[in-house]
Amino acid sequence: MALTGIQIFKLLPKTNCKECGVPTCLAFAMNLASGKAELDSCPYVSDEAREKLSEASAPPIRPVVLGKGVRQATTGGETVQYRHEKTFYNPTLLAAQVGSDVASADLETKLKAWNALQYERVGLNLRPELVAVKDSNGDAQAFAATAKQIAETSEFNVILMTEDAEVMKAGIDACGFKRPLMNAATAANADAFGTLAKENDLPLVVKSDSLDGLTELSSKLTGMGLKDLVLDPGSREIKQSNDDMIALRRAALKDNNRAVGFPTITFPCEMASNLDMETLIAAMHVAKYGGIVVMSDFAGESVFPLLLERLNIYTDPQRPMTVTEGIYEINNPDENSPVLVTTNFALTYFIVSGEIEASKVPAYLLIKDSEGLSVLTAWAAGKFAGDDVGLFVKKSGIMDKVKHQELVIPGYAAAIAGDVEEELPGWTITVGPREAAHLPGFLRNR
Ligand code: SF4
Repeated sequence: MALTGIQIFKLLPKTNCKECGVPTCLAFAMNLASGKAELDSCPYVSDEAREKLSEASAPPIRPVVLGKGVRQATTGGETVQYRHEKTFYNPTLLAAQVGSDVASADLETKLKAWNALQYERVGLNLRPELVAVKDSNGDAQAFAATAKQIAETSEFNVILMTEDAEVMKAGIDACGFKRPLMNAATAANADAFGTLAKENDLPLVVKSDSLDGLTELSSKLTGMGLKDLVLDPGSREIKQSNDDMIALRRAALKDNNRAVGFPTITFPCEMASNLDMETLIAAMHVAKYGGIVVMSDFAGESVFPLLLERLNIYTDPQRPMTVTEGIYEINNPDENSPVLVTTNFALTYFIVSGEIEASKVPAYLLIKDSEGLSVLTAWAAGKFAGDDVGLFVKKSGIMDKVKHQELVIPGYAAAIAGDVEEELPGWTITVGPREAAHLPGFLRNR
């Protein structure tokens, strides 16, 4: 049960030392109660109070970490029903399914093709995370061999899909080092699966056809000491699946039902007979409220739009998308290549870098942190002022990379040229075009 601000305040040191960034312990308590502060911001909370407060300030939907390595990912951890209330934190994870009877050579081909589905966008590498091995025939050896091949020969993390404890154990023995997700504990096998998950410290899917059933099973498993659970409401029909996702999210957030305060898993692969339809269902669950969606296959035309959708849904609507401040090398520049500077609004970066790339002129693009504002807005807001830009250029390290001393600034920020010159004595400040579309011509004609 969540604590109120006053209940939290009673557990705080009440010294009003301000180290947490707000003037009083009461203000901090209120922020903590509304999810606007992290408990770790106060260094003086006693261990006893921390234990009580950690529980109270934990997200209503537990974040669950899946897998190991570069595709390790977290699902859950959400705090709001609607994205515009705050933001969604941990993007829906995408999985493709293979049967445990797949031939090793076919699996190798699939893994190679799936691994190639990686896309660079706004400075991020977008890619799916998981492969689910489904027990096709109860053959524990084949199940283990398939899981082992995925875990050892690819970056993908693994979902082990069987309701047979012996088969599950074989799978865990084969790929336990990658912290696979066990799918699924049911009323029939909960004791055996709970014990396996506890012994191997693995996340576990809990499957039941009703909310009451899920509540009962997850309470039983948490009673066994398990914390990392994922919920499968068992629905394999589109409308019912959508309704269940909404009901679970509401129960966790609005009713504070901790027994269902876990991320979810959905199976579009079992709801449609072709990948297009599966993709539509997956898209529905990226928006509402699938923690993991399992498809029958990964194909570029399916995965790419899903990755873009989840990027948009899981981007904080209150913060513009940004790229990291620094030096970006385009078309293999050398010491004589031109140096351009612009802001860190992601759209600005991608349009400008795209035009430079298209020009085929090698260049350095300096990206200055402007809190995600575009050039004109950043300039008007004082986030792209001449002295700041000059200082940034000095500290960026570009002077070690080029022999010349010329900086191209955006046409819309022409007014800062004088101040940049003052901050960079000896440099020539050239005003570039206003529109990025004119950059290729500008660069080629220099
Ligand atoms: Fe109070 Fe802790 Fe904040 Fe200090 S850091 S004001 S003790 S809540």
